[in-house]
Amino acid sequence: MKRLCALLLLAGLLFSLAACGTRKTPEGERLRVVVSAFPEYDLAKSVGGGHAEVTLLLKPGMEPHSYEPTPQDILAIRGAQLFIYGGGESDVWVDRLLEAGDLGDTKVLALMDHALLRKEETQEYMTVEEAEEAGDEYDEHVWTSPKNMILLAEAVRDALAELDPANAEDYGALCEGYIGQLEALDGRLRELAETSKRKLLVFGDRFPFLYLVREYGLEYAAAFPGCSGETDANPATVAHLIDTVREAGIPVVFKCDLSAGKLADTIAEAAGAKVLTLYSVHTVSKDDFEAGTGYLALMEKNAEALREALN
Ligand SMILES: [Zn+2]
Repeated sequence: MKRLCALLLLAGLLFSLAACGTRKTPEGERLRVVVSAFPEYDLAKSVGGGHAEVTLLLKPGMEPHSYEPTPQDILAIRGAQLFIYGGGESDVWVDRLLEAGDLGDTKVLALMDHALLRKEETQEYMTVEEAEEAGDEYDEHVWTSPKNMILLAEAVRDALAELDPANAEDYGALCEGYIGQLEALDGRLRELAETSKRKLLVFGDRFPFLYLVREYGLEYAAAFPGCSGETDANPATVAHLIDTVREAGIPVVFKCDLSAGKLADTIAEAAGAKVLTLYSVHTVSKDDFEAGTGYLALMEKNAEALREALN
């Protein structure tokens, strides 16, 4: 019944929206961009600057893997000129709406169409065409590699310039500045990984960091693959992680941002290590969002935590 009400409300809202007529941005108005999760938000804000009015659907602190849009969210997308989303497992709702033709003529950009993809099962980089051929699941956390983030910034720049050619030069300049910072971050992470005492990271948690770890030639052992919704760890896996930390004298067990970290605590305590947080940046906390703490700042925190874990 609740669902039917929501659908009726949506139908009514869509009708009134259609009656409003033109959706083009009048002179002097900002480009309306709607984004699904935080990485897309950071990209749109960084490259769009003052020309883009960016609306984030996934509220800070919300779990990104089980998000479902409200009728108002769908209206926001339909009323925007550009909608940016991830394109992976967390965004199947977008595919449903696209297939049903429910997103109107809003331009749609999926991050995974512009990143170099990695399969969870293999460790090979692939283009999107190769990925489609293979047909298996690809890890959606493409932004955890700054190298991918550079490709994504370029894709967002091109989409903004196409929709708003009058400000194309500004988008180009903003993108260049953002890429400069991403390249500096990449350089720091690469140097830290190359000069580190050890290469193995241990996660007493989910593992949304495949792209980050592989980009810098690191190894990992994790309690759960990807962003698995699994909460009961396999006791044999936990025992293996404790042994690994103890035997190699690994100083840090990681937990993910916004996770209670109970399993990481258990492993760290049993093995005599400490727990640090690594930020997947799939979503951010309310405090970080309000403070304007974005991708680059959180990845700098990650770099510091990695330095401690690898030395
Ligand atoms: Zn995730």
